[in-house]
Amino acid sequence: MAHCILVVEDDPHIREIIRFALEKAGMKTMVACDGDEAMSRFAEAAPDLVVLDIGLPEIDGLEVCRRIRKTSDTPILFLSARDEEIDRVLGLEMGADDYVAKPFSPRELVARVNAILKRVRAAPVIDLSVIISRGALVVRPQAHEAAFSDRPVALTALEFAILKTLLARPNMVFSREKILEAAYGGSIHVADRTIDSHIRNIRGKLAAVGCESAVETVHGVGFRIGRCEAVT
Ligand code: CA
Repeated sequence: MAHCILVVEDDPHIREIIRFALEKAGMKTMVACDGDEAMSRFAEAAPDLVVLDIGLPEIDGLEVCRRIRKTSDTPILFLSARDEEIDRVLGLEMGADDYVAKPFSPRELVARVNAILKRVRAAPVIDLSVIISRGALVVRPQAHEAAFSDRPVALTALEFAILKTLLARPNMVFSREKILEAAYGGSIHVADRTIDSHIRNIRGKLAAVGCESAVETVHGVGFRIGRCEAVT
C-alpha cells in the first residue's frame, strides 16, 4: 500500500513541488495550507507522515506539531525557511522526526521522507512475544492470556489481537483502518462499526474485572490504549 503523506505548506508553489516529488516517488499525498486545515486533514485521513512547514499563518508549524503529538506519534518532517539551529532544536524537541531547511531539493526531501518511513517500520515496538504489562493489566501473548489485577479476562482471538495492537504502541492513536490492518492483516473489509463493537466488548470484559480505563476514544481519530490502572 502506498504511503500517504500530508503536506502542510502555505506557499502554493513549494506545496506543489513537494506534492509532485512525493507522488513521483510513488506516495499518495494530501495537502493543507494552514494549521487548522492540517489538523482536520490529519484527523480525517491518519497519514503515515506529515511534511510540516514551520512558517504558517496563524497557527504555526510548531503548534501544529504540538497538537499532533498530543494524540499521535505519526512521523513529522519539519520545513523551515530559516536554517537556524534554534528552529532545528526546538522542532526536534517538540517531537519532529527530522528537519529540512529551505531551499531544499525535492530529491533530498523525498530521501528524508523515505528514511523516516524506513526507520519507523524498523522501530522496535514493544516485543509482543514477551509479557506486556500496563497499569494493572498483564497480557501474555504467547499463552493468549490477559489478566487485570490478577483476575483473568477471556478475550476472543480478535479482541486479543486488537488489544495487543493497541498495547504495542501505547502512545499512538489507531484509526479504525489501522486497527483493521494490524488485527486482521488488512486483507478483509470490515465495517467501522465492527471495530467499534469489538472495542466495546474489550472495554466491557475489562470493566467487569475492575478496569475502567482499558481503551480511550480519541474523537474523530480512533482509539488508543488507556491507562489500565486499578481503581483503589
Ligand atoms: Ca511558509
